[in-house]
Amino acid sequence: MKILIASPEIFPFVKTGGLADVTGSLPKALKTLGVEVRVVLPKHKQIGENFPLRYKNWKIFCPVSSKMVEGEVVESEYDGIISYLIEKDEYFYRDYLYSTPDGDYLDNAERFTFFSRAILEAIKVTGYVPDVLHLNDWETALSAMFLKIHYKNDHLLKNVATLLTIHNLGYQGIFWHYDMHLLNVGWEYFTPEYLEFYGKINFLKAGIVFADIINTVSKKYSQEIQTPEFGFGLDGVLRKRASDLFGVLNGIDYEEWNPETDEKIPVKYNTNTVEKKKINKVALQKTLGLQPSEDKPLIATISRLSNQKGFDLIIPAIPQLFALGVQYVVLGTGERRFHEELEETKKRFPEVLGLKIGYDNDLAHLIEAGADIFLLPSKYEPCGLNQLYSLKYGTVPVVRATGGLDDTIIDYNENPEAGTGFKFHEYTVDAMLSAVKRALEVYRDKKSWESLIKRCMAQDFSWERSAREYIKLYELALKKHGTS
Ligand code: ADP
Repeated sequence: MKILIASPEIFPFVKTGGLADVTGSLPKALKTLGVEVRVVLPKHKQIGENFPLRYKNWKIFCPVSSKMVEGEVVESEYDGIISYLIEKDEYFYRDYLYSTPDGDYLDNAERFTFFSRAILEAIKVTGYVPDVLHLNDWETALSAMFLKIHYKNDHLLKNVATLLTIHNLGYQGIFWHYDMHLLNVGWEYFTPEYLEFYGKINFLKAGIVFADIINTVSKKYSQEIQTPEFGFGLDGVLRKRASDLFGVLNGIDYEEWNPETDEKIPVKYNTNTVEKKKINKVALQKTLGLQPSEDKPLIATISRLSNQKGFDLIIPAIPQLFALGVQYVVLGTGERRFHEELEETKKRFPEVLGLKIGYDNDLAHLIEAGADIFLLPSKYEPCGLNQLYSLKYGTVPVVRATGGLDDTIIDYNENPEAGTGFKFHEYTVDAMLSAVKRALEVYRDKKSWESLIKRCMAQDFSWERSAREYIKLYELALKKHGTS
């Protein structure tokens, strides 16, 4: 089976969030299982110089509105995965991928209409024709529609089946109807059955309507998004496609995230040497200017600073957290208002709040290795990766029971024999704090805490199982497309 994975970001080329982790790791896991797989992404400014760039004069021409926009496909590679970078500096050589701290780039509709076309033109120009084109999120979703409208008689592309993975329904690519001309499809597609979304154009919806098969990144989230509460207005469209909608939990890359081999942390450790975690804890405290203490419970959050991740619960609760005698560390970047509120809080609690506003992968590793508890009270969470990294590092998750968080964490109080963390249900400060208190109670009992840590570290969320499930979905997509 030949697969092409298309994504606006892929680690290690470029990453702003979990999407890049997933689209970087899945190809490696598929390859190990004998699948032929390549990837395609925009050639962003942030792509470093340590990747090969093979220019093969693969020029592409993509209709965007009435223009023929010229780009070039550049071949590259990471970890043995052939990668196609779509070069178009006017669109992709920018300081950010999608938006500045002040908002989205105004030409995102144009940029990602081009990219979604370029994915298909890249297939033609490179001659790598996949059986299944695996699309990820709204930035690639139009490809599914273009295939069925513009390429349905194309001898190379007409047999290509599509799988669309929705990593976060909160981001749909919604644009005003004046942008319809960019797509080069007729107004007959501007109806609620296809692209129209309350008077606007919705790119993700196009993918949901036209892809052969759809999935999200956990089973629970695939069910939640079919309800008005989590559906962001698309629950009806998703319910219509319920028989083609699946949930596949993300795996994690244990080559990147493993305290036994992690070169980014001061002291490596495993289940037999968990006491060494304390050395990392002190290193973390020193790095962030907190008082070194092996015993004081250290709670941490690494996250995009957005409402989705529960910062509207966390920030007002910080003083109450400190009243419980803990230190708290936050690493994150995102919405300006949260930057400001956290900076203000830091001024009030300089000795117990460790704060780094920004994106810092090395610090993320140190936090996972050094913290005792990982707090993630998301409003909704398609899968969530940090709770999985936390498990591996013996950093006990305290999470809200939603989406992937609910699927991956077993509550300790409900099931002390199998528990791997602490969950709460209601989206309130009180519910969150009571879960933190339950965690701290166990923390004080050294023996129980140590066996809990060890159980967390023994959990296996490796990619192999998820990759096997994706292979099943690829087979289903082919069947659905009528080409298997
Ligand atoms: P999402 O994709 O919704 O942001 P995930 O939990 O799926 O959330 O993935 C987030 C990924 O981004 C994780 O790998 C996490 O470690 C990383 N991350 C998020 N914010 C930062 C940051 N400020 N610095 C370093 N890594 C971060």
